[in-house]
Amino acid sequence: MGRKNRRAGSESKPVFGNSTVTESHPDGEWFVRKLTGSSAIKTYRCPGCDQEIRPATPHIVAWSADLPEGAEDRRHWHTPCWSNRGNRRPRGGK
Ligand SMILES: [Zn+2]
Repeated sequence: MGRKNRRAGSESKPVFGNSTVTESHPDGEWFVRKLTGSSAIKTYRCPGCDQEIRPATPHIVAWSADLPEGAEDRRHWHTPCWSNRGNRRPRGGK
């Protein structure tokens, strides 16, 4: 017998609760959490547009579900920037 039983709890869902969903994207699986404005108390920088996300702005927090350290590397996105992430066009646009 190789491995010992791990504690069942260690591989269960993350502690973020039911507001976090898993989304599949071309670059892998992502945990996505929607923040309401009331819980957004800091200014973040959106990696999609490189603009600030002001406090009290509802937005998205996303992190890789594929990387073990993903939860420590969460990114804050404007909601539309996250939505457009997968279908950004190589040219045109602006
Ligand atoms: Zn943005």
